[in-house]
Amino acid sequence: MRVLVIGANGKVGKNIVQKLMENGHEPVAMVRDTDQVPYFEEQGASTVLANLEKEIDHAFYNIDAVIFAAGSGPNTGPDKTILIDQEGAIKSIEKAKAYGVQRFIMLSSMAADRPESAPVEIRHYLFAKHRADEHVRQAGINYTIVRPGMLTNDKGTGKVTLKEHIDDFGDIPREDVAAAIVHLLEVPESEQKSYDLVSGDQLIEDIR
Ligand code: NAP
Repeated sequence: MRVLVIGANGKVGKNIVQKLMENGHEPVAMVRDTDQVPYFEEQGASTVLANLEKEIDHAFYNIDAVIFAAGSGPNTGPDKTILIDQEGAIKSIEKAKAYGVQRFIMLSSMAADRPESAPVEIRHYLFAKHRADEHVRQAGINYTIVRPGMLTNDKGTGKVTLKEHIDDFGDIPREDVAAAIVHLLEVPESEQKSYDLVSGDQLIEDIR
């Protein structure tokens, strides 16, 4: 599959591009700066220059699936969070629809399904993720929403807990998040589903 990775230069995004290559897919890394291109070209991955705050149509030509892994990060104000995590995601969903992309995987966040109960400092972030998730659910495309717990830079274990709802907040290496997302691309049972994701003991490759 030719897969557009939005947020490819991010910490999860880089892992996603690598896992896509390992699994025989053709990633197209969407980056917003020419300085970010050589990293991907050296691995043999294609790139497309596009910024979620600007025109992004050209990134969606000849794409089979989209993985949205972008985010404004913890150091910006709520305005940027809404612009990227919410409006950037909604724009990406609409472009995927317009260009006939069949599959969309949304990297969301644990607790985005219940933002009203979050501490006030992160409530705007979880509402932004929540609105993006609601949009993809109603878009009429084959979506999967993945809501991971706290991300770490630890080495992946290949084992996770992926369930429609997990009560206890946990953490998970970014590498395992990427592996799970890339695996789910080709699991039809995961279409039109939303999952929480933390470290656990299910082998990612066995998930159906
Ligand atoms: P990250 O390293 O900050 O990556 C985010 C990526 O989004 C960056 O590559 C960034 O581009 C890109 N981006 C930001 N603004 C953009 C724009 N206007 N146009 C195009 N791309 C843009 O984050 P991460 O650690 O990989 O996390 C990925 C996602 O997981 C985030 O959405 C985050 O909210 C979510 N998440 C995080 C946690 C956690 O514990 N941290 C938990 C659950 C979910 P540049 O590289 O150019 O800056």
